[in-house]
Amino acid sequence: MLHLEIYSPVQEIQDPLFDDKQVRVFVKRDDLIHPFISGNKWRKLKYILLKAKEENKNHLITFGGAFSNHLVATACASAKFGFKSTGIVRGESVQNEVLMLCRLFGMKLLFVDRTSYRDKQDLFEKHFGKDQDAYFIDAGGAGLDGTKGCAELIDEHDQTFDHLFCASGTGTTAAGILKGIQKNKLKTVVNAVPVLKNAEFLKNEIDQYFEKPLEYHLHLNYHFGGYAKTTPELFQFMQAFASSTGILTDPVYTGKLFYALYDLIHKDFFTPKSKILAIHTGGLSGISGMTDKINQAIF
Ligand SMILES: *Cc1c(COP(=O)(O)O)cnc(C)c1O
Repeated sequence: MLHLEIYSPVQEIQDPLFDDKQVRVFVKRDDLIHPFISGNKWRKLKYILLKAKEENKNHLITFGGAFSNHLVATACASAKFGFKSTGIVRGESVQNEVLMLCRLFGMKLLFVDRTSYRDKQDLFEKHFGKDQDAYFIDAGGAGLDGTKGCAELIDEHDQTFDHLFCASGTGTTAAGILKGIQKNKLKTVVNAVPVLKNAEFLKNEIDQYFEKPLEYHLHLNYHFGGYAKTTPELFQFMQAFASSTGILTDPVYTGKLFYALYDLIHKDFFTPKSKILAIHTGGLSGISGMTDKINQAIF
């Protein structure tokens, strides 16, 4: 049996801006689920791991960039639940804090060039096609099993919210949340904040999980130049947010999420009396590669 119970409280945060605009903002602290299997990565891995166990596969193979939260999460979850793991990493061989953690958790790393990295199924076949124990996990834990775990987030709180916000990479988390809302017949409006540039494609990614397309918002203008791209303004926001709430965000996902939320409140996107839930999807690995940039921006 896998022990999968989690702790993720909902906490209200304060800001003069919220009083001014008469909104209330709550944070779902998925970042507290686990220090390394954090946030949505835990939720996305849950049914993937259960299925791997069911199929008696004990070697998890997955994919990510050199600063991938998903790689660390998979490495740690593999160690915790008794799997071997291999991470196929995009780009030339490098060392950093994130990959060090992966190795500490016993993950074997295989670096592949960016062109080969695109065809993950092909890489899996090539390197692990003959390994009876190998189990394929898509980059970021994307896919149907990932959405199942994310949908459970909605079952965990008894309050209702007018709006729900999450950061989006593959869209799996947003799709899962939409499923949870549909299942619980809630009127909560889902707002996804893509962290990539030209993220219009996310609409198809999310809609593929539903028979009829659902209504939700994709806020496309908060990518700060693209995936893992940043500006001094983003770091300054992260500092203001951390120093007024005690909650740390990362520059790749949740920094952009909360920036978008505050900006939309400023711009009167919400009607007065709105209750908003922002999901802190965790994942602070993005910070470790940016120490110099952060110091430059906030000192
Ligand atoms: C991976 C990740 C996301 C993106 O989730 P998707 O399901 O791929 O959209 C969001 N936030 C954090 C902190 C992450 O690590």
